[in-house]
Amino acid sequence: MKYSTLVTPSNPPSCYNRTVAVQFFLNMAEEGFDVVVVGSCMTDLVSQAPRLPKAGETIHGHKFFIGFGGKGANQCIQASRLGAKTAMVCKVGKDFFGDNYIQNFKNNGVSTEFVGQTDKAATGAASIIVNDAGENAIVIVAGANMLLGYEDLQRAWPALGGTKVLICQLEISPDTSLQALRSARERQVKTIFNPAPAIPDLHPDFYPLSDVFCCNEPEAELLTGVAVGSVDDAGKVGAELLQRGCGSVIVTLGPQGCVVLSSQDPVPRHVATTPVTTLDTTGAGDSFIGALAFYMAHYPTMPLEEMARRANQVATVSVQGVGTQTSYPSRKDMPQELF
Ligand code: ATP
Repeated sequence: MKYSTLVTPSNPPSCYNRTVAVQFFLNMAEEGFDVVVVGSCMTDLVSQAPRLPKAGETIHGHKFFIGFGGKGANQCIQASRLGAKTAMVCKVGKDFFGDNYIQNFKNNGVSTEFVGQTDKAATGAASIIVNDAGENAIVIVAGANMLLGYEDLQRAWPALGGTKVLICQLEISPDTSLQALRSARERQVKTIFNPAPAIPDLHPDFYPLSDVFCCNEPEAELLTGVAVGSVDDAGKVGAELLQRGCGSVIVTLGPQGCVVLSSQDPVPRHVATTPVTTLDTTGAGDSFIGALAFYMAHYPTMPLEEMARRANQVATVSVQGVGTQTSYPSRKDMPQELF
């Protein structure tokens, strides 16, 4: 059944009939999503130039392109490309970039039922200048992402009943992420929390609300104060994060794969990945998390270590292509034994 043919809480039928409403919520629960992401969308505006301009200077660049980014959207699109039934809960502006992003979700099979558009802020954007040496200067304006709030979450809650996995990050208001994780826990939906970009005074409730707490090395370091320079260090910070109440912890380590540990099996396990020729690692962490969510939704009894091994393989493909979402593999691009 198509959600678009049904009433929604934000658009009830004129004679709001209890039976219709109950049926609606039952249908939503039955047909639930595999993966729901509450998070950010950003449009990347990338200019390549011989050098970075000085203050007040205008220079000619040699290439310009627009890319789709934002940690939330990246993770959702990776999960969708692997075959998960996904929905994005986010806010974009009532502008060209917002319309364009909604079309991008549709092109990738992501439900846009809970994508709101606002005229109070522009779609989140990252203006990026890259020089010929590969250095960059970036200005991010979160814009509409910061207006995603409680009312938007409430509209999406009926769909959460039958959802298998919810993912949150920190590119939207941390309060909104926390509310989303609390609601997921109340509904027995598995959660992945990605504390990115990391903030030093993370609310302590984020830890026990995370079935899987997945961070990279600098994020782990900022949260624990312990420098992460090796697999052993990753195990140590993982143990500290477990102590704070997380169900499981994954610390991703770029070309070294990741370290996995859980409250049931607190011995850190290093899950190595295959060495490859890297073209562009942007968004590799989001590819990993999107893939992990896919495996958690489809193979709930698979050991986390095995899910991490497979997510490594997916993310390792992403670093061999250029761009963020443009480098994310689809199910047909991956060896079939991963499914
Ligand atoms: P980003 O901020 O670029 O999105 P991240 O710092 O959050 O990435 P990483 O730890 O760098 O995340 O990488 C995530 C995963 O991507 C790794 O666990 C690994 O599976 C894969 N990966 C990243 N870099 C490489 C690489 N150079 N070679 C092979 N796999 C890689």
